[in-house]
Parts: sequence; structure tokens; C-alpha cells
Amino acid sequence: MDTRQFYINGAWRAPVMPNDLAVIDPSTEEICGTISLAGTADVHAAVAAARAAFPSWSTAPVADRIGVLERLTGLYQAHQNEISKAMTAEMGAPVDYSANTQFDAGRVHLEETLRVLKEFRFEEIRGKDRIFREAGGVCALITPWNWPMNQVILKVAPALAAGCTMVLKPSEIAPLSSIIFANLVHQAGCPAGVFNMVNGDGAGTGAALTTHRDVDMISFTGSTRAACLISRAAADSVKRVALELGGKGANLIFDDATDDAVERGVLHCFENAGQSCDAPTRMLVQRGRYDSAVAEAARIAENHPCASAHQSGDHMGPLVSDTHRDKVQRLIRAGIAEGARLVAGGPGHPDGLDRGYFVKPTVFADVNNGMVIAREEVFGPVLSILPFDTEQEAIAIANDTPYGLGNYIQTRDRGRAARVARALRSGSVSINGAVAGVDMPFGGYKRSGIGREGSVFGLEAFLEIKAVCGA
Ligand code: NAD
Repeated sequence: MDTRQFYINGAWRAPVMPNDLAVIDPSTEEICGTISLAGTADVHAAVAAARAAFPSWSTAPVADRIGVLERLTGLYQAHQNEISKAMTAEMGAPVDYSANTQFDAGRVHLEETLRVLKEFRFEEIRGKDRIFREAGGVCALITPWNWPMNQVILKVAPALAAGCTMVLKPSEIAPLSSIIFANLVHQAGCPAGVFNMVNGDGAGTGAALTTHRDVDMISFTGSTRAACLISRAAADSVKRVALELGGKGANLIFDDATDDAVERGVLHCFENAGQSCDAPTRMLVQRGRYDSAVAEAARIAENHPCASAHQSGDHMGPLVSDTHRDKVQRLIRAGIAEGARLVAGGPGHPDGLDRGYFVKPTVFADVNNGMVIAREEVFGPVLSILPFDTEQEAIAIANDTPYGLGNYIQTRDRGRAARVARALRSGSVSINGAVAGVDMPFGGYKRSGIGREGSVFGLEAFLEIKAVCGA
């Protein structure tokens, strides 16, 4: 198929004004696809299609929405190979990681949205009054590149379930899996105009969407920088805005933590080449464990395998782009310049990987929380280790950040774990390596976002609430 086309009103259409952009495979630095960047006329056509489809889709029987989501879930599973290969090529997730973790993240949210939709009560009677939960309107869905299918499905599935119509704009850096996904939405029998997809950059296509007067709601996942621009753009027409943004997660390792706590924290930080918003990038270690934790983290990082994303096995792939690799390298150099103690990795690329956007798994010790590497979201395989003495000090360091997405606690003391979990200002807290269930909400406090995605919380984000009083 022609990946330069957009999916508008139930059909693939050529751009009004072609404006090609190459998609680069970060393992090989070669072109793996070409898209076009949508202009204002393309965006307008997509929004107009979504607007025209809204009256019928928002009032369609819930069974129709369940039908589309059921067929889409089956089609998604049937196209695992194609989708995961696209993610490997576009953003460098190693083949096995892509086929399992990245792919499954999307699958579980499709299944969970279906489960929630089948049980959800859109009408509630309260005495003589009733509450109706109704579709929020025409939505602009804007997603990043780091978890391509996860982010797209966390928005498209609940928007469909709520009865909203939509225009998806995936990341221009990783658009190929979304093009396959749009084809699956079509095959699932989604009525024309309900789901539309345009490709494009943020400043052009994204801005045309977020300022469009016929868009009622924006659901955005990406950087805090872009979120500020989008919030301003949305303000003039008072659009609802849901934001899932960056993070600077702290992992609080107390002296009594289990033996595997440090290894788990280091590997979690390096997962997806460190390109996850909820990565535990600040490891706070209590003084009694500090020296051994630093030595263990350094050993793990030095031995962490790095290889092309096209190679199977459990290794770290490249970063997504040359620009992003350069940003991470700059931050590593900033860490050294500010006096943090480099104990593993550092500037440059891992041995033998001079092609592709690879970065060495890097560990800094003796970091203080005022340093750039402790404050900025590096979004690469860079771990900062900070010492602490008391519980209060650990909480203060963890909360001393503009972000508030995910934090982590490692201790055998259940009372302390509960106390610290309450004191941390973040949308999620994981204790001793526990992984959140798919029915849990995901989102951030402070500059990590507004609103929650996932399960019933994600569905409610796309619903308006109407109070009807009297017979
Ligand atoms: P980004 O903000 O550069 O881009 C994200 C999306 O927004 C892209 O589709 C881009 O084209 C678009 N965009 C950029 N500027 C825009 C503008 N002015 N108007 C409209 N659209 C615009 O982010 P990225 O580099 O693609 O992704 C990485 C960021 O995403 C990190 O900060 C990461 O923490 C965050 N993230 C957050 C979550 C979460 O759930 N909290 C999940 C994944 C990623």
C-alpha cells in the first residue's frame, strides 16, 4: 500500500499537497518507509468526516461499538507479525521485545476496553434524576513514537467505545504501525468517518488539528514541551485536553530491600532503551546499601548487551533517531561536566555499533538532585544514583521534581512501604517490583499530565456527563 496516503471518511486518500518525509530505521540509518505530512486541507477533510459521522456513531447501539472492537481485537492479534516488524523498523524495538512486550501492550488494552464496555452503565437513575454519560465529540488523538501501538490503542479503543469520532495523528517518526492499524480499523467494519488518520509533524499537522474549531477534545501523549503548546492552542475554543507526559521516576531502595532490588531497577531503567515515560531513572539508595548498589549497577550496565533491533534475543536496541541520540549524548556530557561520577558507559556508542543510533548503557553515581541529569527527562539508558539516609529525605528527593508519573519503592517493611507510597506525589507507585494490572489507571501528577488512561478511567475520559432532572 501507499504509506503516503491518509485514511479519511472510510477510504485511503492521497494528500492534497504531497509533502514527503522519510521514515528512518534507527538500527541501519536507512529509509524504511515514506509518509506525507498532512496540510490544512487534509486535516480539514479528516475533521469534517469525523464531524459528519458523529451524530450516528454517538447514538449507535453499544452492541455496534462492541462489534467493531471485537473484530478489531481479532484482526490485531492476527497481524502480530506485520505490526511488530513495523515497530522494529520505525523505532528500533528489538524483534522479540516488539513481538511480545510492545505488541501485547496494545492487545491487552483492546481486550480491557471491550471488557469495560460490555459492563459499563451509560445511564444511571438517582431517585427522580438520571445521569447520562455521552460521547465527548470529535477527538484529535496525538501520539508519540516510543510505545507506538500501546499509545494509539489507549486512545482509539476508548474513543470508539465512548461513541466519539476521531482523527488520529501518530508520531511522524514512527507512523508505519499506525498505518497498518488504520487498515485493521477499516477491515473491522468501522463506519466511514468514525476513525480517520492523517500523518504529519507537530508544528504543521498537529497544530492544524489542535486549533481546529470542529475538534471538541484533544487527547495527547508526548513531551511536556508540546503539551504546553497544545494547551495554549486549545484554550481559544475551550477544548477538553487530556495529557500523558514525561516523567523522572524515583526508585527508593531501602537498606532492607530484597537482594534483587538493584538489578531489577537497573534493567527497568534500560528497558526500551530507556525510552519510557515511567522509567525509574533516579535510583535513590539508602546509605547502608549505597556502595554495593553502585558497584552492582555498574557491572550490570557494562555487561548489558546492545545489538541491532533486527537481531533476535534479549538485548537493547538503538535510540529512535539521530536527533534523539545527540540529545542523550549531550545530557551524558552534562552529567560529567556537573561532577557526577561516571561508573559505566558514557559518551559514544557501544563497541562495534558505529552504525545506528546506539548509546552505551550509562550509570552515574553521587548524583545530586539539582543536576541536569536528575532533573531532565533523558529518555535514554542513563541511570542516576543518589544516596539518602532517612525515609523523610528519600521522600523529599523523590518529590523534588516537576514530574509526577511513576515512582518505585523497595523495602521489606510493609508499614514503611504504605507510608512512603502515600507521601509520593505521582500517578502510580509500585512496591517491590509489582506490575500494575490492566484495570489500573495510568497518568501523572504535576507536569506529567492531566487525566488518566486505561480501563474504565480511559473510557470516562472520552465521555461527557449530563444531569437530567424531572420526568
Ligand atoms: P513529542 O511531544 O515531541 O511528540 C508527540 C506527538 O505530538 C507527535 O505526534 C508530534 O508530532 C506531536 N506534536 C509535537 N508538537 C506538537 C504541537 N505543537 N502541536 C500538536 N502536536 C504536536 O514527544 P515524542 O518525542 O514523540 O515522545 C516522547 C515523549 O512522550 C516523552 O516526553 C515521554 O515521556 C512522553 N510519553 C508519555 C507517556 C505517558 O503516558 N505519560 C507515554 C509515552 C511517552
